[in-house]
Amino acid sequence: MDAPVTEIIDTRTPNEKNFIEGATGPWEVIIGMEIHAQVLSKAKLFSGASAEFGGEPNTHVSLVDAAMPGMLPVINEFCVEQAVRTGLGLNAKINLYSVFDRKNYFYPDLPQGYQISQYKQPIVGEGTVYIEVDGETIPVGIERLHLEQDAGKSIHDQHPDYSYVDLNRAGVALMEIVTKPDMRSAEEAKAFVSKLRTILRYLGTCDGNMEQGSLRADINVSVRRPGGPFGTRCEIKNVNSIRFIGQAIEYEAQRQIDILESGGTVEQETRLFDPKKGETRSMRSKEEAHDYRYFPDPDLLPLKLDAEWVEQIRATLPELPDAKKARFIEQYGLTPYDASVLVADKAAADFFEEVAKGRDGKAAANWVINELFGRLRKDGLSIEQSPVSADQLGKIIDLVKKGDISGRTAKELFDIVWTEGGDPEKIVEERGMKQVTDLSAIEKVVDEVIAANPDKVEQAKKKPNVAGWFVGQVMKATQGKANPKAVNDLVRKKLGIS
Ligand code: ADP
Ligand code: MG
Repeated sequence: MDAPVTEIIDTRTPNEKNFIEGATGPWEVIIGMEIHAQVLSKAKLFSGASAEFGGEPNTHVSLVDAAMPGMLPVINEFCVEQAVRTGLGLNAKINLYSVFDRKNYFYPDLPQGYQISQYKQPIVGEGTVYIEVDGETIPVGIERLHLEQDAGKSIHDQHPDYSYVDLNRAGVALMEIVTKPDMRSAEEAKAFVSKLRTILRYLGTCDGNMEQGSLRADINVSVRRPGGPFGTRCEIKNVNSIRFIGQAIEYEAQRQIDILESGGTVEQETRLFDPKKGETRSMRSKEEAHDYRYFPDPDLLPLKLDAEWVEQIRATLPELPDAKKARFIEQYGLTPYDASVLVADKAAADFFEEVAKGRDGKAAANWVINELFGRLRKDGLSIEQSPVSADQLGKIIDLVKKGDISGRTAKELFDIVWTEGGDPEKIVEERGMKQVTDLSAIEKVVDEVIAANPDKVEQAKKKPNVAGWFVGQVMKATQGKANPKAVNDLVRKKLGIS
């Protein structure tokens, strides 16, 4: 991005846990990000061509996208609405007056010779995103969000002598979201991108798909002595996975520290991250805003929004992750950690609420987070693809609650429902999985075990712990179907252990 940042204020108190120990003392890493988020929209920002990912090269290209002489851009109102919705979701100020500018540069995948962007007057101003790292809630300032067009794609690896251009992406609407330099570790930067992606997905304004490039991060990294003046930054372009963001920051911070510690100076430049080598390398020296000869696009009127229209959009916002998390803690008695895990994905949060309906929220959260998520991860499935439905999982929980099955059997039952499907209650019935709560039946087995082991009975009189051995024997004899609590009570009573 290249719009002027008004003033950089250090909002954070240096925290030792983020310091990187160097040979000459501790360093602190400073991170600010520029995120390009592709607007979820059928059509492009200034033309009616399809904004869909992929497709045969150069099939989603209108005359406007190809920059044919005399073609005029027409703003896509839906994209504007999506930007406003996003701004509201980022707790940000919506600017009722904003301006489109031309950012001039030459590249074959930019047929206009300029990108239409917003420079001095973006559609969205300052906002805040809250991230959580190690149980601490940290506000990350949003500097601005502006609308701009994406460029096409240059393809260099198809032919030894030629490069190709695919304009399918040219003109697709992007939201560029710029943060303040408020992050202090790779962890925080990763948490920020995850959180932003979650918010965008809740809002339905970007699909957040980093592999397909719908969400790309430019990461600005500098280092300084803790609490000292900001250092010179380098910008790492287009990092396309959360893991790579972490790796790129760690590598880049160390590179800058090494330079400074050996008496050198960091050059402000644009760098690329090479995921294979895990390194950043120089791409070009940093360009300045004046290199782009920004000026208001004469083909487009300033964007004037109606305050009432903005309020109408605000009224349609869904419950966002922070609010949902607070509600989950309050309504279901969840720990903040469990609540965070559940709200990170809206589909997972919805699934949980269906399971929790009319049941113990904590038990539901436990099952969803530990059993269900664990199994989904293992099988590489998303929550939408879960073979066990919320209804089925709820029934399993009910069977445990009623005392029909033990916790251990419940896990077996979960496994059966996962692989074979079916009604949990019927499965328990048909396969004789019900635990024995009939006290007289359990008592009979307890008596048998006690009668067969007089030596252990003697031991138990001195060492009450031996009761556990009897419980184990009874459970074994009943193939794990006896209610463990009933067994434990009976064994202790019969052995005279209080
Ligand atoms: P430009 O327009 O030249 O790209 P900006 O001043 O708009 O630069 O800032 C771009 C990004 O760089 C923002 O996310 C900002 O938070 C971040 N940033 C600015 N100064 C620093 C710094 N010293 N260290 C790390 N990030 C920084
Ligand atoms: Mg700037």
